[in-house]
Amino acid sequence: MTKEELLKELRRCILCGGCKIECPTYLFGARESLGPRGRLRILYRILTEELRPSQAASDRIFSCLLCGACSGQCSVGVDMERVLVEGRRLLTDYDDRRRIYRRVLPFMLRRRGFSSSVVRLSRFFLFPLLRRKGLEVLELPPGTEQFSRGGVYPPPDPMTRKGRVILYGGCAPRFFQPHLIYSLIRVCNISGYEVVIPEGEACCGSPLIALGGLSEAEAMMRKNMKVFERFEHDSIVTLCPTCALTLRERYRSIWGKGLPVQDSVEFLRDVIKPEGNIGVKGYYHDPCHARYGLGVYKEPRDLLRRLSIEVVGEPGDCCGLPLMLSGPDWGIREGLFKKKRAEVDSSGAGMIITACPGCMYQLSGLFGDDRVYHLIEMVEEAILGAGEEEK
Ligand code: SF4
Ligand code: SF4
Repeated sequence: MTKEELLKELRRCILCGGCKIECPTYLFGARESLGPRGRLRILYRILTEELRPSQAASDRIFSCLLCGACSGQCSVGVDMERVLVEGRRLLTDYDDRRRIYRRVLPFMLRRRGFSSSVVRLSRFFLFPLLRRKGLEVLELPPGTEQFSRGGVYPPPDPMTRKGRVILYGGCAPRFFQPHLIYSLIRVCNISGYEVVIPEGEACCGSPLIALGGLSEAEAMMRKNMKVFERFEHDSIVTLCPTCALTLRERYRSIWGKGLPVQDSVEFLRDVIKPEGNIGVKGYYHDPCHARYGLGVYKEPRDLLRRLSIEVVGEPGDCCGLPLMLSGPDWGIREGLFKKKRAEVDSSGAGMIITACPGCMYQLSGLFGDDRVYHLIEMVEEAILGAGEEEK
């Protein structure tokens, strides 16, 4: 998007404020400049040279979670996500706070196997540096290279093979949560699907897009297009809705062409169609990029009902993971966490189910590892756990 195109999009805003209703940073930060309309106004004034770009302006723009709750709320159809992403690109030269991420992340994401080992050591030198910059750092488990070379996982009986699923592993499952990939392979195999994990997959580029680094993300998009277009498949699936949103929708909206990737929840409901009798109450946390970005809301609830899991509690706000890039906090983090705790506690659910590896980290930090599950683990338990009991 050129500056003129961005300005044209910003001029469409009639300042009605409708987009603020669902915005979590506006709700908890309680400032106009921390809501979507305020952010658009900051960008407009910078482009019309009424406001000088600064660290303070950048902090307001980068405090946006890119959750998508404001998308689709605009009465005149401003493309909120595109504008908020382009605003980040516009401000990168004035944003010192996240400079270290911009330097380090492209290098690390291009060498993910190596980087997963570096993360282990980073807690001694890189993480303290990031914390001194006022940035939050996620405690990741030790990295693994189990799936770094990819692989082919056929169903036990090739005669009953129904199709082939290409898995876009993504950084978190492929290098830090391989158990989620194993769960997907087992579920697919028992249902008659071969799983292929291609070698050469790149990061989807989402962290770089969030930092305003669209050119580095474009290189990753090109690599992924080349790798995934090569395979014959029935479905391309990912366990992370942020990856699905980026590969399918953001690639298309920014660069004109996306990959036909399904989020695992869509795939499980529509292709695997599991049934089960787990018989528990669960709180379902909607990942923002599934709910607002992909429009996946009914699907996980249908799926959980089929597994006899009663979904209790109100669907809440963002888990707060994107605040890692935020810097100043304005009480947003505490507000989000308090609300999430209250929602889960009042639901009476023992387990918290979601369908995003990133949300899992954040929720595990709040509620403990032993209460938080990915939906694929529930499906695996329903299908394979039932089989084990019958033996
Ligand atoms: S994307 Fe989310 S955090 Fe950002 S302005 Fe929109 S609603 Fe607010
Ligand atoms: S809803 Fe649309 S027109 Fe209204 S303030 Fe937000 S961006 Fe502007």
